[in-house]
Amino acid sequence: MLSVVVPMFDEEEVLPQTLPRMRAALDGIGCDYELICVDDGSKDSTATLLKAARAGWPQLRIVRLRANAGHQAALTAGLDVSVGDYVVTIDADLQDPPELIATMLARAADEDVDVVYAIRSDRTSDTAFKRITAGLYYRMARRVAGPQVPTHAGDFRLMSRAAVDALHTLPERHRVYRLLIPWLGFPSTTVSYTRDVRAAGTTKYPLTKMFRLAADSITSFTAAPLRLATWLGITGFVVCLVMGTASVVAYFAGATVPGWASITVAVMFLGAVQLLCLGLLGEYVARLYSEMQRRPLYFVAEDTGSPANAPLRVQAP
Ligand code: UDP
Ligand code: MG
Repeated sequence: MLSVVVPMFDEEEVLPQTLPRMRAALDGIGCDYELICVDDGSKDSTATLLKAARAGWPQLRIVRLRANAGHQAALTAGLDVSVGDYVVTIDADLQDPPELIATMLARAADEDVDVVYAIRSDRTSDTAFKRITAGLYYRMARRVAGPQVPTHAGDFRLMSRAAVDALHTLPERHRVYRLLIPWLGFPSTTVSYTRDVRAAGTTKYPLTKMFRLAADSITSFTAAPLRLATWLGITGFVVCLVMGTASVVAYFAGATVPGWASITVAVMFLGAVQLLCLGLLGEYVARLYSEMQRRPLYFVAEDTGSPANAPLRVQAP
């Protein structure tokens, strides 16, 4: 059985196109499936559209979250309830073609791998800004999480049940899947596709959410930014030694002047460096704090459940 997890947040504009295309693609594969639509606290008519579609489509499972939990948390909600032997995660905006799922399934079975990444071979449909920030993001991701992170693989991928269960055993809750799944190190392969433009509606990833994802990606894999403070401190000390010597020499040479500008610059610079280091430290403390609180990532308002013919699966302990 196949589970397809689609997180959606205020996607009323695109759903009339997404749902029929998904249905055609999934019915065409010819295996049992469930399509898990995770409604991530949408304020528009997303929930109504999903309910209407479910009337004639028993494989459509709706998991409605009470409030907007964010893309990665919505994915977690979908993975948590999925029962399929293979699980595919895909965006709702048709930037990822649902027709590719059949290819991904075939590759997983043929090559006996646990993960199939869909790689965006062509991003010309994205804005220049998105391409540049994405390029920087993936360079950073490979540095912090290792070279096994495929470049330009977003959250469109197929996982085996073993991979999903492995994710469930990880104690952390704030998960950046595109780094954690490569980190598992399970056998994997890739398929490439051309990323289309968003079929309708607007992006649900404003700059603030992109920053959040980048910060989560870094803090969940490396403590290197914390070491920056040490290096800045060492550099500051060396500069201080040189300038201290110079000022003593200047004092004895009788060449000291009031020096307002140099003092102001030094004070401002050191203040900025200290605040930067505090901010970096704060990112890690905040992460520790929220992991320690162990608050749930999402609240489920409604779950229509798996289709009747789905085999019951006992959750791994
Ligand atoms: N999404 C979500 N919750 C959020 C933000 C986004 O479930 O808080 C979903 C969104 O509906 C879409 C997917 O995540 O299915 C990717 O978002 P989007 O296409 O807007 O991102 P982009 O392609 O612009 O990076
Ligand atoms: Mg998109």
